[in-house]
Parts: sequence; C-alpha cells; structure tokens
Amino acid sequence: KPPEPATPLNNEMSDNCIFCKIARGEIPSRKVYEDDEIFAFHDINPIAPVHFLVIPKRHVPSLQDVAASDVPLLGRMQVLIPRLALEQGCRPGPEGGFRLMANNGADGGQEVPHLHYHVIGGPRPWKRD
Ligand code: ADP
Repeated sequence: KPPEPATPLNNEMSDNCIFCKIARGEIPSRKVYEDDEIFAFHDINPIAPVHFLVIPKRHVPSLQDVAASDVPLLGRMQVLIPRLALEQGCRPGPEGGFRLMANNGADGGQEVPHLHYHVIGGPRPWKRD
C-alpha cells in the first residue's frame, strides 16, 4: 500500500488551481514533459531564453507542504530537471548550466500556490538576472 501523501488531495483546491488545470490539459500550455506524476511546461512570461516550470501533478501548495513520503517524487523531479534543461537548450558543463528556483509562500514571492520549480537558463543576458 503506498504511503499517504503529505498533503491529502483536496478536490476543491485542485479543481480551482491553474497549474492542476494545466496538468490535466484543461488549460493549454506548451508542454515540455509529462509522466504519471510530473508535468513540465514553458513559462508564459519567460525571463530568459530557457524558462520552463516543473510541477507535481498532485496538488502540493509549496515546499512548506512536503513530507518524508514526498522524497521519491522530489528526487525524481530533481534528477529529471537537468535532463530537460539540456533538451531545452541549456549548455552542458560548468560553463553552461541553469538556475533552479522555487518560490514558497507569499514571503517567498510565490504567486501560484501549486509547487513549481522554475528552470531558467540559456545564453545571457537574461531579461532579469
Ligand atoms: P512569480 O510570478 O513571482 O515568479 P511564482 O513563482 O508563483 O511567482 O511563478 C508563477 C509563474 O507561473 C510565473 O513565472 C508566471 O509567468 C507563470 N505562469 C502563470 N500562468 C501561467 C500559464 N497559464 N502558463 C504558463 N506559465 C504561467
């Protein structure tokens, strides 16, 4: 039996969540990647040549809401991200790379309350450094 998720899926939160709707295909997005647990799509307002978002399909509001049972999911996301960054045009190696950013809660500058990692990269200068 799989462990209980840290934050039980709240249908009302999920129904009204823009990123849940994107993961369900109810709102269009430019998809980067999808599997049974993870969805990735291009940011609608990119600040750099590469700027996409990686989210769990399950409605997790932020890193403030994860628990030990989320370690496998978070680990898979972190292992996936460098692969997707290369596929999207980030350069490999120490001269290349990308920025990984997660805003958490209002004090963290989070606007959309569904956990997402910004993957930002490509040749500089960027719109916002
Ligand atoms: P911030 O806007 O301060 O970066 P977040 O960390 O919550 O706050 O990021 C939300 C991100 O989601 C923003 O970069 C925004 O451009 C992006 N976004 C909002 N709506 C959509 C959408 N429909 N499709 C793709 N990206 C979106």
